[in-house]
Amino acid sequence: MHFNKQLESIKTYEGGKPIELVVREYGIKPEEIVKLASNENPYGVSNEVTKVICNHAHEVYMYPDDSMQDIKEALANKYQVDTANIIMGAGSDQVISFAINAKANKYKKVLTAKTTFAMYNIYAKQIGAKVITTPSRQHNLDEFYQLYKKEENIGIIFLCLPNNPLGECLDKEEVFDFLKKIDDNTMVVIDGAYQDFAAAKDPKKKIEPHELITTFPNTLYLGTFSKSYGLGGLRIGYGIASEEIMDALYKMRPPFNVTTLSLKAALAALSDQSFVNKTIENNFSQMQKYEEFSKQNKIDFIDSYTNFITLLFNKSIKSTEIANLLLKKGIIIRDLQSYGINGIRVTIGTPEQNQRFFEQFQPLLQR
Ligand SMILES: *Cc1c(COP(=O)(O)O)cnc(C)c1O
Repeated sequence: MHFNKQLESIKTYEGGKPIELVVREYGIKPEEIVKLASNENPYGVSNEVTKVICNHAHEVYMYPDDSMQDIKEALANKYQVDTANIIMGAGSDQVISFAINAKANKYKKVLTAKTTFAMYNIYAKQIGAKVITTPSRQHNLDEFYQLYKKEENIGIIFLCLPNNPLGECLDKEEVFDFLKKIDDNTMVVIDGAYQDFAAAKDPKKKIEPHELITTFPNTLYLGTFSKSYGLGGLRIGYGIASEEIMDALYKMRPPFNVTTLSLKAALAALSDQSFVNKTIENNFSQMQKYEEFSKQNKIDFIDSYTNFITLLFNKSIKSTEIANLLLKKGIIIRDLQSYGINGIRVTIGTPEQNQRFFEQFQPLLQR
């Protein structure tokens, strides 16, 4: 069968390997598996979330409240914006697809960093839009600007702040200086999936959606409940932008795109900020263990503003081999070979999980 031509250049998205697969393939007991591959919250979810899901389970025979008013009001309050500036998605992933469908096509290109979140590329290619990437792997705004000037018809620019899978993060001031030079007709997406981690580590990284969208009405801010709030399994995220952008994005939205339980759970998650604060605190104290381990074992790492750390290997170590050997020990991490990088991305886990990782990883370095 022949499919649309543009599908030929798409590499199917490769998520972190699920626990079930390791159980099946290696016969390891689920409780012995350590999954540090998908940047999930290792502490699970707030008890408030669990309670709300149980209490509303009997409502799932009905379609969700498609106005999503309660969660939008809670987010509007958190970010000091209007509910009319918010759109909800089945993960912020879905909002990325809305934006690309609204602002890119065969003639209007997408501009991203060389090594960044894979879905920008995949959604762009699905609709036949060309993706231009910077020469540097990490975000370099001079390169972004040069390409923006040189290429005609950039419809949409993605800045991932902090960047997945590398972990680096631009300062707010440099981002704002860049935005001043971009035409009103080009949409700039600020993907803030890990913004709460970055803002806690260094306030210079913090981007306030309210200030962003009022200063630059051509920007779209993305947030998610999948990382610090621990709701990856419920698929809920959001976009914040001017009403003009919202009008366009709402035309792309399928009905009932966020489930009843996801809406309730996200609301409960927002009400328990102390859970998120503890998550972030533990994250950075455990990240120090990774930095110390890497220094002791002479492994390069990228200074991270997220809940994961990217380790870079020299030629004597092969990331794919390491990833496979760890998998056999029940430890799932992310090999970066598909990004052309000889390295791995490791989600910062609980102290016990991290210890297991170090114990299994170290012997592999000394062969
Ligand atoms: C995890 C992630 C998202 C979106 O996650 P959803 O689960 O779809 O909300 C978006 N951008 C980046 C950079 C991410 O790492």
